[in-house]
Amino acid sequence: MKIGILKIGQIDSRVLDRVLENLRTIFEDAEFTVLPDEMPIPKDAYDEERKQYRSDIILKSIREQVDKEKSLDRILGIVDADISIPQMNFVFGQAERPGKAGLISLYRLRPEFSRQKANTELFLERASKEAVHELGHTLGLGHCSNPFCVMYFSNSIFDTDRKQGLFCSKCYVKIEAASRPEKEELQPDE
Ligand code: ZN
Ligand code: ZN
Repeated sequence: MKIGILKIGQIDSRVLDRVLENLRTIFEDAEFTVLPDEMPIPKDAYDEERKQYRSDIILKSIREQVDKEKSLDRILGIVDADISIPQMNFVFGQAERPGKAGLISLYRLRPEFSRQKANTELFLERASKEAVHELGHTLGLGHCSNPFCVMYFSNSIFDTDRKQGLFCSKCYVKIEAASRPEKEELQPDE
């Protein structure tokens, strides 16, 4: 499985390094590369009224990119802008489930955003967790009821901080099955 990491707009290189390092440990059989070209945030994704970007529109652009880059199985986009979908105030990320495109936003992951003290380590850890979570969705996983599992739904940053960056044993079994190349047909659980 080949997975590309796509910068959407400018992204802190420390984030790329940490996310990459972490993903390589979690998804041992996958090959990760940071795509050399940065993709601008699609202009039509901006919602004037909400002053946020529509994550579904950005996700569509990522999907188009995967369809072009035939050598890649999946792309995870990283954006440093506030993203949302019409039904929610904000989202930390979004992904096709199952599918080939995932997206995370760094915007709300900095402790300063929640009036906490700046903490680079915490910020990088949060970004890593969200990256694993969205890739988990692309492999067909839904949300997990275990609050310590990386697939737990983050309603707020506190959920993100509580959960670990790892799959619980139940989700791990599903990830193992989904990562096996011969198993092409993925069934969303539940
Ligand atoms: Zn999710
Ligand atoms: Zn789980």
